Amino acid sequence: MIFEGLAEKLQNTFAKLKGKGKLSEKDVKDAMREVKLALLEADVNFKVVKDFVNKVKERAVGQEVMESLTPGQHVIKIVNEELTDLMGSVQSKISFSSKPPTIIMLVGLQGAGKTTTGGKLGGLFKKQGKRPLLVACDVYRPAAIKQLQVVGEKLDIPVFSMGDKENPVNIAKAGISHAVKNNNDLVIIDTAGRLHIDEGLMDELKNIKSEVKPHEILLVVDSMTGQDAVNVAQSFNEALGIDGVVLTKLDGDTRGGAALSVRAVTNKPIKFIGMGEKLDDLEPFYPDRIASRILGMGDVLSLIEKAEQAIDIKKAKELEEKIKKQEFDFEDFLTQMEQIKKLGPLNKIIEMIPGISGAKELKNIDFDDKEIVRIQAIIQSMTKKERKDPSILNASRRRRIAKGSGTTVQEVNRLVKQFEQTRKMMKQFADLEKSMKKGGKFK
Ligand code: GDP
Repeated sequence: MIFEGLAEKLQNTFAKLKGKGKLSEKDVKDAMREVKLALLEADVNFKVVKDFVNKVKERAVGQEVMESLTPGQHVIKIVNEELTDLMGSVQSKISFSSKPPTIIMLVGLQGAGKTTTGGKLGGLFKKQGKRPLLVACDVYRPAAIKQLQVVGEKLDIPVFSMGDKENPVNIAKAGISHAVKNNNDLVIIDTAGRLHIDEGLMDELKNIKSEVKPHEILLVVDSMTGQDAVNVAQSFNEALGIDGVVLTKLDGDTRGGAALSVRAVTNKPIKFIGMGEKLDDLEPFYPDRIASRILGMGDVLSLIEKAEQAIDIKKAKELEEKIKKQEFDFEDFLTQMEQIKKLGPLNKIIEMIPGISGAKELKNIDFDDKEIVRIQAIIQSMTKKERKDPSILNASRRRRIAKGSGTTVQEVNRLVKQFEQTRKMMKQFADLEKSMKKGGKFK
């Protein structure tokens, strides 16, 4: 989980503050010392930490906080605001040119995730109605062109290449002409990386920049490299000038130091984050939402957005009606499963729920998405009649279902039991709601 250690430490520190009716200056100082250590351990740039803690301290020992009824909460609010500010305050979008095609040039070291990100960006903007073209200018890394072509094929996005013998500047220029001719309104140029920053690389990138005049130069950096990523960003910005950063592999980064330092050190915003190897694992970067996640306040907005995209409102309403009328059956259970599956891996959803990210007992549970697939298989192996009326599920029917779904009778039994418990619980909720509506109150 991203920011795992940091989130836990900050939340522990603030839990102590929250319990206090009044805060002394010493309380704040002690808390800030803990915050400082936690940030340093998360590999945040030293100077960034110092400035951050000073700012928070200055605001937190102010009269307004000290005299407030809930000083602990007040301090958390300040930390939340300052964390958000540290990462750039607001989401930084791609600015599309009024004269298409908009040209995005991706730069970065080898292995940072440029080629993958090129595809992900193309996919993201295609969903928003753009007609992207990917241009393969990495003529040095063996198989880079092929890799881009494979990505393009998967996403059904055209890829322009001229093999690996041509000069990258010429390829980029020809790619843009190709886009103009073919009505592509977005060109994403995948450039070559190196293992380290060197002059040859920078010269080549500068040449491409001056010849094609991209609207956006996005630097792709690997967040797992921590402060190295920040140094790389600084060097690229000084030598080439960048417009923003794509931070990849945040899914594997438990510390998060780069995410918290890049903006403060380079003054360039993080625009997107890579959250996995799959081609739809790219998200816009929202400083405020990330800050809330770190502080265990959850990321309800992202969750709602995901839900809005995935959940069919009409089906959800129908389901609600059925629950009220106590007609919820295995068919509905299956529909519900399918909707949940569309939200993405359960681990990621859990992270977004306020309060939950800090709950230790939940952290150790392995939320197994394969389990959902097995449950689906079991329900799909039932006849329509069985799904409507599980009470007819005798031993021989259960054996047949287990065989049909490639599971065991025990698993089928477990699911039927779970389903009955769920249905009972839903009935209780519905009854409770009814009695409350009648004017009954909780005793
Ligand atoms: P390039 O050399 O910069 O073009 O890097 P690639 O696009 O080939 O990526 C290098 C490796 O990082 C590949 O194995 C990618 O699948 C992987 N990768 C890229 N982005 C992410 C990400 O956000 N999360 C994870 N887990 N892996 C990523």
